[in-house]
Amino acid sequence: MAQLQLQKVDNFSELDIKNPDHFLIVRVLKTWRRAQFNNPSRTYSIEMILLDQEDNRITASCLSRFLGLLQNFFVEQNVLCIQKPILGENTGNWRYIDHPLKVCFNSDSVVSIADNWSGTEHGFSFVDFERIIKHKVSKVESIDIIGEVVWSSAKSHFKTTTNQDSKKITVKLQDLSGMKIFVTLFDQYCDEMCQYITEHVELTHFPVILQFGKFSVYKGRYSVSNAYDGSLLFINTDDVKEIAAFRDSFTAIFEGQTSASFSSISKSMHYSLESDFLTITDFCNTAEVDSPKDLIVMGTIKFIDPKWFYMACNWCMMKVEKSDNGAEVIYSCTSEECIKEKRVIDAFPSCYATVVITDCRKLENGRGNHRCRGGGGEDDRW
Ligand SMILES: [Zn+2]
Repeated sequence: MAQLQLQKVDNFSELDIKNPDHFLIVRVLKTWRRAQFNNPSRTYSIEMILLDQEDNRITASCLSRFLGLLQNFFVEQNVLCIQKPILGENTGNWRYIDHPLKVCFNSDSVVSIADNWSGTEHGFSFVDFERIIKHKVSKVESIDIIGEVVWSSAKSHFKTTTNQDSKKITVKLQDLSGMKIFVTLFDQYCDEMCQYITEHVELTHFPVILQFGKFSVYKGRYSVSNAYDGSLLFINTDDVKEIAAFRDSFTAIFEGQTSASFSSISKSMHYSLESDFLTITDFCNTAEVDSPKDLIVMGTIKFIDPKWFYMACNWCMMKVEKSDNGAEVIYSCTSEECIKEKRVIDAFPSCYATVVITDCRKLENGRGNHRCRGGGGEDDRW
């Protein structure tokens, strides 16, 4: 058997680009088809993300001319023995997995089903919402997130920059510490989420996992979305034990609050924020607000303080100090926490606004006063 002469590699970190005579035991986590650039109906390659038995992930790619019988093996959750893979460099500014190499195949490569798997099923590597909100997440590789969907936008249709029809939905995810982030799902992932919500109108919240999602920062705001076709979306399924465990923990922590603070997700999905505001929600005067609650406030901005924004630290959100050494502008954080941790920081625009709200009825004391924080990152929208 050829395999006897091959060296077994248990951990993707041991892969050596100069030595092709080895074999790997892997689990296929994700497969997707890459179309030919000039002819989208034809397949250029099958792309994959593979897991080793020590929870390391690596990307793999098989060009269509080598696919042949191999493609029968390239099925998600299959455990495979790959003999004589070709190793290529994993390049690009953004990569699904930040490993210097990728696994490729040629006519010498042999693939078979393996039956001895001692690793995990999904190899999740979850990122804390706090790190997302503070922009402390890798911008060069994909991220895995787990959270409870507590709100959904309406589905919207739009044209991409290349004039393709596209659609998206944005959901709000809450973690076990109560932190919330927005996640946007496009196209097939949007459809999956919409279908689930439509078929489960009774649910006010449910857990999801987005594996191999994309984190990016644009003009100081973060965004989390699926990463083209390479992401995996698991919605409230007991087939994934991490989902079941998260659901139990979420219920235990937020039990009692659930019915009071969560409203039907299908309702929020069917009405945009605008229509919710204009047609569904009853109007009330500020005098009638006698307990803490979510409010949408309509008003006219009468005055903006000229010093309305400041540069904030991406770790602690405190105002940073600016210095200019002639060559470049340097921002440094003077908060105790950041000084103690000797943090290297990024600064982004943030604001702290005093909002004075008056409605058409005069209040006893003349006016209501409401201070709120807003600006910079999406996290400030809470
Ligand atoms: Zn700081």
